[in-house]
Amino acid sequence: MKAILTDTTLCIGCRDCVVACRKANALEPEVPRRWETRDGLSARNWTSIVERPGPVYVRKQCRHCLEPACASACPVGALRRTPEGAVVYDGSKCMGCRYCMMACPYGIPRYDWDLAVPYVRKCILCYDRLKEGKQPACTEICPTEATIFGDREALLQEARRRIRENPGRYADKIWGETEVGGTSVFYISDADLSFLTRGRELAQTPMPAHTASAMHAVPFAFFGMAATMAGISWIIGRRMDLQQKSPEDKKDDDHE
Ligand code: SF4
Ligand code: SF4
Ligand code: SF4
Repeated sequence: MKAILTDTTLCIGCRDCVVACRKANALEPEVPRRWETRDGLSARNWTSIVERPGPVYVRKQCRHCLEPACASACPVGALRRTPEGAVVYDGSKCMGCRYCMMACPYGIPRYDWDLAVPYVRKCILCYDRLKEGKQPACTEICPTEATIFGDREALLQEARRRIRENPGRYADKIWGETEVGGTSVFYISDADLSFLTRGRELAQTPMPAHTASAMHAVPFAFFGMAATMAGISWIIGRRMDLQQKSPEDKKDDDHE
């Protein structure tokens, strides 16, 4: 299983990783929005550098949870975890309900307000590159190896080694090792990174257990809303298909 280790003590805040991500994923130019600029993440910016006093530069991205709450909350299976460790997104299934955004303990998925059909966006661990045997664009470009890619267990050992062999340099913690059941993107740092969870202490158990119990508490509202959203999504998709078809195609459709 693959993973990313980010060591904030090595990050110089150059933002090469942000640029590489935008290029590798052909992300459209950013449309700044006041309510989305707090941490730099958006539908068109899948990783960002958050500057904290020090300065400390913290690269933010999807944590690729081992048991992702976003996937368990999605009523149509638009998010799923792959065997390689990436949590990927299928836009053709998404109906725009945004349950994933509510479920994510790290506040990662963002809504794309500029498309006619509903889409949620987030880092996908460069899954296409992974399948080609390459590493993510962000880790490949990093000039200081502040963010590195590899096998999860090997990176955890490397993180433990750095903490053990450099007393006083790091907080004695690997953010993401066990919280919410563990993540595939984890951090070591000299700073307190609890701001990544808005100061909340996360449970050591996987989030889907909590998501599932919350869903069971409101089953009728949830699935009623899901059905409505699926219907709306289908109608919008159908209209877009028809807009792209020739007049002859439309006549054929009308007679189906
Ligand atoms: S960090 Fe959030 S969006 Fe990413 S896998 Fe975990 S729950 Fe899903
Ligand atoms: S893994 Fe890929 S998609 Fe995710 S932040 Fe890095 S470059 Fe962007
Ligand atoms: S490329 Fe590396 S050093 Fe530069 S901002 Fe990104 S993580 Fe930090």
